[in-house]
Amino acid sequence: PLPRVVIVGRPNVGKSSLLNWITGRRIAIVDDVAGVTRDRVTILAEIPDGKDTRFVELIDTGGVGIVDRDDLSEHVERQIETALGEADVVIFVVDVREGLMPLDEEVARRLRYVQAPVILAMNKADDPKFDDQGQEFYKLGRGKRLPISTHQNRGKPELFALIRDEL
Ligand code: GDP
Ligand code: MG
Repeated sequence: PLPRVVIVGRPNVGKSSLLNWITGRRIAIVDDVAGVTRDRVTILAEIPDGKDTRFVELIDTGGVGIVDRDDLSEHVERQIETALGEADVVIFVVDVREGLMPLDEEVARRLRYVQAPVILAMNKADDPKFDDQGQEFYKLGRGKRLPISTHQNRGKPELFALIRDEL
């Protein structure tokens, strides 16, 4: 079986955008409205590795189950369960513009029991000036981290390198 790379994070941080960005295709539905019900997306993704390509199964957990908009923590719960069960690598997405939110901390809390390595992707760093704002997320825990922007195409080779290192 292929290594499973699982994308987690509270609603609206850019998980679906990240999946599309990595695959270079519009597969997952990107939505401005947090917590919109969506199907879970699993897709074969190519991670460049020098002259070679590593194939992984990329999983956007954003729409696991039916999302009750009044109970986002249950939504988070389901996502993390998926991560716990299946992940070889976890990409934990946060939003540097909005900053650290209680739901980010809840995601982090659940990830503590995950064996798989966790990469913290600090998304929406559309400009280098946002890179420093990521520091408040450092307390979310272990693992490697980097600022990225799916909109401005920042940090993709660096993210690929971090994923590759964990495969
Ligand atoms: P998800 O709920 O975590 O899957 O988040 P989505 O991928 O649906 O994105 C939520 C919102 O954030 C959408 O309006 C996206 O266009 C926006 N978004 C995603 N990535 C970026 C980014 O790099 N920069 C900015 N400024 N917005 C982004
Ligand atoms: Mg999504």
